[in-house]
Order: sequence, then structure tokens, then C-alpha cells
Amino acid sequence: MIVVMKPDATGTQIETMTQQISAMGLTPQVIKGEHQTVVAALGQERPGMAESLEVGEGVEKVLPIMAPYKRASSEIKKDRTVVKALGLEIGGTKIAMIAGPCSVESEEQIVSIAKKLRDLGATGLRGGAFKPRTSPYSFQGHKEEGLRMLAAARAETGLAIVTEVMAPEHVPMVAEYADVLQIGARNMQNYQLLQAVGDSGKPALLKRGMSATIEEFLLAAEYILDRGNPDVVLCERGVRTFEDHTRFTLPLATVAYLNEKSHLPVVVDPSHGTGKASLVASMSKASVAAGADGLIIEVHEDPKKAASDGAQTITPAAFGQLMAQCRRVAEAVDRSL
Ligand code: PEP
Ligand code: MN
Repeated sequence: MIVVMKPDATGTQIETMTQQISAMGLTPQVIKGEHQTVVAALGQERPGMAESLEVGEGVEKVLPIMAPYKRASSEIKKDRTVVKALGLEIGGTKIAMIAGPCSVESEEQIVSIAKKLRDLGATGLRGGAFKPRTSPYSFQGHKEEGLRMLAAARAETGLAIVTEVMAPEHVPMVAEYADVLQIGARNMQNYQLLQAVGDSGKPALLKRGMSATIEEFLLAAEYILDRGNPDVVLCERGVRTFEDHTRFTLPLATVAYLNEKSHLPVVVDPSHGTGKASLVASMSKASVAAGADGLIIEVHEDPKKAASDGAQTITPAAFGQLMAQCRRVAEAVDRSL
């Protein structure tokens, strides 16, 4: 529930309210607004709790938080969350562009493409060192060696590193190298991983599970937020449907809906969302128009030779064109790129 304090409530009254909430076994979260302070009381509520908070000094009213995802909900936080990692900023007026290969293949490859992408305007570098592959016989990534290669690319370019972590026990290691920890679609409901990322102190990029509802997606984000990590980026990457003209079906109403229901920034992955390089630019423009705060795109110097996901990967030249097109769309929706 949310305890709305009166506009003239004193600091002592607010402090007393947080203590009262804690004494009930709930977690208080003070949110200072322009005119009023509200104190969210998070946790398992019991009957009678709202009534006893309502009579506290300086309290105007107590409202229920309707959404099951309390911390992710726009009900408790009106201003939008901006997630920052080095020069990468997701959720502000500028649209974040995270680009790079599906997999980190070699130091030479990742450093070379990182330089090109930075020069073309990317603000984040993606690349998998731990790869969740459908087949155990497919390339599984260079693992810690791959993380070192990513760190070399960051040292060379200053780009923030976005890379996937697949197991809770790997979180401390990946967090040593990465600026943003990516949680893959296949792991969206790996609750121990979500909690470990919540404890890591690093921003998280949480991909929507391929058959997860939006409520399940936001509740997964809640696991990270609940560990005291406020820096969660939501990523729509497409869901499984009966359609087979694309690898997944990329629903962009998700972007607008998430912007309504949550204060967390939203990025779209048109590469996995379509599985087809020829569709990436169109869906990137559509994502920006729909209100996305960023894009995460697979780029490789020679997509045909990519170690993974070549069919959905674009070239640096195509990325440059996409940037120019998206910039015009961004301006039309009062954003920049
Ligand atoms: C990836 O980003 O390369 C990836 C494996 O993504 P997803 O988890 O969305 O399939
Ligand atoms: Mn991929």
C-alpha cells in the first residue's frame, strides 16, 4: 500500500511512519514528490494494517497498490527511472543504442567492431561470452576469456559493456567485467539468478521470456528491485506464437503498455524479435516511434561468418543507415539519438 502524507507533514512524522511500517514487518520506501511525500509499504499485507497506518500523524490517506509488481509499478514512482552505466544512459530523452555481435569471437573482432560502432553513435557494446544455445553442440561462448575481450574493447572505446550472465554462481565474475548484466529470455524466471543480479550492484537488462506474460515479466523485474537494485532495464525481444515468417513475434504494444504500467526503461531487441536482418531497421524505427528508450541490435562485420545468429545480424554499414533513420523518427517523437 501507499501512505500519502499531507503536504505539510514534518520530517519527524515521515520518519515515524517508516518506523511504524517496519514494525509491521513491511519494508518502507520513502518517495519524495514535488508537493507531497508518499511512503510505500511493501511486503505481505495483513488485514487491518491500512487502518492502523491511516490514523498516523501527518497522514492524508492510505491507498492500495493495485499491481502485483509493487516496486516496478508506476503507481509508486511517477518519475521515470534512468539507468546509467558509463556513457550509456537508458530512460532519458536520448535513445540508447546498444550494438555488437551475438557472440564475442576474438579480441580482434570485438575491439574492431566496437570502434566502428562507437564512431557510428552506439553508446553500449553488446556481445555474449556465455551463450545460451538451443543445442549443446553449438558454440557456447568464450566464457571468462570472452569477458576479458569485452573489457579490452571497453578500454579501447569507452563503450559500456552489456553481456549475459547465465548462472547465479557466475554473477560476481561477470559483474567484475560487465557494466550491465543481461539476463536472457531463457532465464527470465530463474529466480536465484534474478536475486544474485539484484545483489550485484550492477544495472540489469532483463529480457522478456519468450512465453512470459507482461505480468510475469514485471514480477521477474520485481525480484531484482526487491534486493535493493533500482537499475533494471526491461527488454522486449519477441515471443513465441504460431507465426513462422519471423523467428519470434515482436509485439510493440508491449513498449507502450510497459511505459504506462512501469517507471522502468524499456529497450527493444529487433534482432532476436525478427530473426531476419532485413527486418531489423523497420522494427527499430517502429520501436522508437512506440516509445522505446533504447535498442539492442546484433551487428557483425561479416554476418555470414558470425559464430551465432548470423541471419538476424546486420553489418556496420547497415547499422549506420539505421542510426540515421532512427534519428529522424526520434525527433518526431521528441527524443534524440
Ligand atoms: C542474445 O542476446 O544473444 C540472446 C541470446 O538473447 P535472448 O535471451 O533474448 O534469446
Ligand atoms: Mn543472439
